[in-house]
This record gives sequence, C-alpha cells and structure tokens, in this order.
Amino acid sequence: MPHPRFNLVDAAQMLSWALDQWRAQLGDAGVIPGQAAEDRYGVCTIGGERSILAALCPRRAEEVVALVRIAGEARIPLYPISTGHNWGYGSALPATDGCVIVDLSGLDRIIDFDPALGLVTLEPGVTQGQLRDYLDRHQFDFLVPVTGAGPNCSLLGNALERGYGITPFADHFGAVTSLEAVLPDGRIYRSALSELGGGDVDRAFKWGVGPYLDGLFAQGNFGIVTQMTIALAPRPEKIQAFFFGIDRDENLASVVTAIQHVLRATAGMCGSINLMNARRVLAMMVPYPNARVGPAGILPLEVIAELAGQNQVMTWTGVGALYGGAAMVRAARREVRRILKPVARRLLFFTPQSTARLNRLIRYVPGLGAGRIARAVSTIDASLQLIAGYPSQIALPLAYWRSPAAPLLGRDLDPARDGCGLIWYPPLVPMKPERVRCFVDMVKEICGSHRIEPLITLTSLSDRCFDSSIPLLFARDDAEQAARAKACYRALLEAGQKEGFLPYRFGIDAMGWLTQSGGVFWDVVSKIKTAIDPNGIIAPGRYSP
Ligand SMILES: Cc1cc2nc3c(=O)[nH]c(=O)nc-3n(C[C@H](O)[C@H](O)[C@H](O)COP(=O)(O)OP(=O)(O)OC[C@H]3O[C@@H](n4cnc5c(N)ncnc54)[C@H](O)[C@@H]3O)c2cc1C
Repeated sequence: MPHPRFNLVDAAQMLSWALDQWRAQLGDAGVIPGQAAEDRYGVCTIGGERSILAALCPRRAEEVVALVRIAGEARIPLYPISTGHNWGYGSALPATDGCVIVDLSGLDRIIDFDPALGLVTLEPGVTQGQLRDYLDRHQFDFLVPVTGAGPNCSLLGNALERGYGITPFADHFGAVTSLEAVLPDGRIYRSALSELGGGDVDRAFKWGVGPYLDGLFAQGNFGIVTQMTIALAPRPEKIQAFFFGIDRDENLASVVTAIQHVLRATAGMCGSINLMNARRVLAMMVPYPNARVGPAGILPLEVIAELAGQNQVMTWTGVGALYGGAAMVRAARREVRRILKPVARRLLFFTPQSTARLNRLIRYVPGLGAGRIARAVSTIDASLQLIAGYPSQIALPLAYWRSPAAPLLGRDLDPARDGCGLIWYPPLVPMKPERVRCFVDMVKEICGSHRIEPLITLTSLSDRCFDSSIPLLFARDDAEQAARAKACYRALLEAGQKEGFLPYRFGIDAMGWLTQSGGVFWDVVSKIKTAIDPNGIIAPGRYSP
C-alpha cells in the first residue's frame, strides 16, 4: 500500500518526511541525520558495518511514543539502544542496514526506589555508576548489579540482553520484575497485573499473571522498553571473596566437581565462581608482549609459563564470593575450605575492607608503591569492589590487550571508540568435568589454528551450568587480523554446535547464523513478530528471522 502522503513509495521522500516530523517532536538537537549518525554510532569492536539512516535522541517516554508512530507511518525501521555499549556483540549498531537508531541514553531518570523491598524503577539511560551514586547519596544499602563492562553501561540495556554480573543477583533479566514498553503501533505495553491496577504487586512479583510476556522484550524485538523495575540485592553483613589456583591442567576436572560441591554446600550464599586460564589472567596483568609471539601466531606455551611464573599466575585461577550474615559466612567459608583445599592451591580469603586497607597501606611503603605487589593488590582491591556492587573499569583494559591503543587511566574507557577489536563468544557449558575438558580443548584448538589467543573464562550460572566468555581479541585496523577473528568466531560456533556448546547471546553479525535453520521455535517467533509488528518497525533481524 503506498503511503497516504505520497503517490509513490519513495524511500528518500519518506525519510525526509519522517525526519521533519521527528524534528517537530524532538527539536533539531534530537535528530542526528545520516553521516553524522554513522560517525557517532557506526564504530563497533566486532568490525561490523551498517548503513544508518539517522539517530533520534528522545528525552521523555512520550516522545518515544510519538517517534514510533511516525516511523510506523513512514515504514522506517528503528533500532533502540540504551547506552549502546554492547561491546563485543555490535556496540550501538543495528542488526540490519537501513535503520534509524533510537538512542535512549537521554531517558535517565531513576523513577522510584523502594527501600523496603529493594526495588528500583529506572529508565534506559540509567547507568551502573549513576545508580551507585544515587544509592550512596541516599544511604540505601544495596548492591548495584555490576558487570565487567563498567560504570557507563545501562542497567536496562544489559538486562534486555540477558547479561550476567558477579553480585548475588547475577542473572540480570532474572532480577527484572516489571517493565513498560512502547509497541510498534505506539501503544504502551504493561503486564496484566499493572493493567488491573496492581502496579505495586507487579513490581514485587516477576511472573505477573497469564502468559509471561515481559520475557518477549529480552533478546527480542517487540517494542522499545522505556522503564523497568529491578530487584537489588541488599548489602549483606559480610562479603568474603576467595581466590584459588590450579597448578596443572589435568586437575581442572576435579576442580569443576569441587566447584559444583561448593555451590551446593553453600546453597545460595555463593555468587558466581569464575575460572580463568593463565592467558586470561595475564591479559589483565601485563601488556601484550608483541615481540614474543611465536611462529604459530600466538604466545608460545613457554612464554606463557615464564610470564605466569613472574606474576605468580597459576594454570587456572578461581574467584568466588560469599554473601550473608557474619556467622553464616564463617560457616560457608569452612565448607569452601573443606571442599577446595584437597584439589586447589593457594586458597586465600579477602574482604573488600581488608584489601582496600592493604591497598592504601602499600602505597605508603617506600619501594612497594609502584611495584608488582602493589599492582596485584590494587587489582584484587578493584575486583573486590566489583564483587561488593561498586562499578569499576577494572575489566575493560582486556579489550585493549591486542589493540595499538593503550587504555588511558583516568579517562572513560570505550573500546569501540578507541579502535579495539573484540568479538565475544559466550557459550553455555554443562557443569560436567568431561564436557568442560572437551570445551577447553576445542577453544584452544580453534583459537590456536586462527592465531587468536585462547583466553578462557568459565562463570558458574548455577550448580548445573557454566557460561564461558571467550574474548576474541584483534587489532581492528588490521584487516587480516579482523578477518581471522571473524573466521575464528564462525569456526567456534560451528564446532561448538556439533559438541552441544551454544552461546547464550549473539552479536549482530551472527543473528543470521542463529535463525538460519528455521524450525518451530523461529517460526513461532516470526508469527508473533508479524502479529505485533507487521511492518517490521522495531529492530528487524534482532533475534528473529
Ligand atoms: C571488557 C568487557 C567486559 C564485559 N563484561 C560484561 C559482563 O560482565 N556482563 C555482561 O552482560 N556484558 C559484559 N560486556 C558486554 C557489554 O559491554 C555489556 O553487556 C553492556 O552492558 C551492553 O551495553 P549497554 O548496557 O550499553 O546496552 P545497549 O547496547 O544499550 O543494549 C543492548 C541491546 O539491547 C537492545 N536494547 C537496549 N535498550 C533497549 C530498549 N530500551 N528497548 C528495546 N531494546 C533495547 C538493543 O538491541 C541493544 O543493542 C563486557 C564487555 C567488555 C568489553
């Protein structure tokens, strides 16, 4: 059907009409045209490229309704982002060409905080850092659900991607109790409980009543979410982190079993436990030694062994944290010791307070302040602040390891802006020793054959499953390296699929791979999408065929 305002459906005419309408709603400053939008949003760490028609920057939810209606009339697809820092998956870039980006970072109000229930209701632009400041300013003793992506990332955007963190409420969409979204026809979606006037119970109870439709908006493209309620973990009386090492790769199997026992024995008191291989830990501790790359294109095992020895890094390093009352944490700590001691080396316990004190103290000791010990203590201190729900940039320099740009301390880090090359491969791995072994060998083999450093982390999501995060790092301005990283990602997807390891989340360049085989699942998604969004206005191609 031709658009009522034009005799011919002319894309350029439509866009020009829509831009005028959007300007009338948002003002000139709220509409960024073509090239300027590509300059601002067009860079991403995975090396992907998309043509972007424009970007819209609303500041109020009502403006979102208006701009969606205009897009619907002009049949122009929109791609909503919250802060657009989806680094390693596409950053701010849409899944398909020819979208208008809706940058929601200007909707940055904390609408409500209920300290009795620990429920925060916030808009898309609210960042981890902003929530931390708010809670501190009002002396609300709750943890921010932090991630490694740092203080400038949106809580809502991360939850919609079903991101994970390291505080007790590690599953970020799991902690979402309620949301509001603008549908492709401009109507506002709320849950059935809210529509019945039960806003308070809706915010306090995740599942609502009737079919669980809130879930459609996570890793979906059915609307633009304009606000969300998230349950925050109260700060417990005691937080105690533990670190341990595995000296030989053969012992990985027994440690996987031990981790499962720890998670079961400490029932709900233990946050995620992370296991990292030596290369992954070294990537946080030493600059990439370019001169020592071997003939196979990565750092040879002897170099890794030497660097690991110098920096006291073991073959595998484990990190976990206990949260609870002081007496319960003491008891849980005994359990952790009993279970891990026989299989792990150098089991150490720290509290955020004790490391922060040690960190301050060390800076006053002549000769220690700038040395290796100071660096190690300061790294542990920053990691513990994260565990305690304080956002920090501590994990971000990883993205810069293979990049010519060094992360500038004291400056807001942004791997996309700074030219870093990073593709995340984040598959789920059953918590069974033989599956973990198979997975680790697969990653080492495929990364090695593509001359990409195999940096491996396994994060427990439960006592049944790990999520592994493999950052494929490369120099983005080096076309040959970028092509190898992309080929490596594809090879991991293919080999992983054969072995039953599939990612929990996909980047924009892999959406086609995800949906290509069709099947009943994607058919149902497609039918729901067509019913709600017949003109494909919202985020076409994002987790949908
Ligand atoms: C070193 C490093 C460490 C990282 N560590 C972690 C980690 O620990 N955990 C983790 O989960 N991620 C991690 N990341 C990945 C990523 O950077 C984060 O997940 C980040 O929070 C996502 O960006 P964002 O919050 O700006 O969300 P956005 O980029 O704004 O949103 C993500 C996607 O969700 C959709 N979306 C966003 N807002 C809306 C909306 N309002 N309505 C509808 N759809 C919307 C869009 O499709 C968008 O592309 C890490 C990245 C790096 C480089």
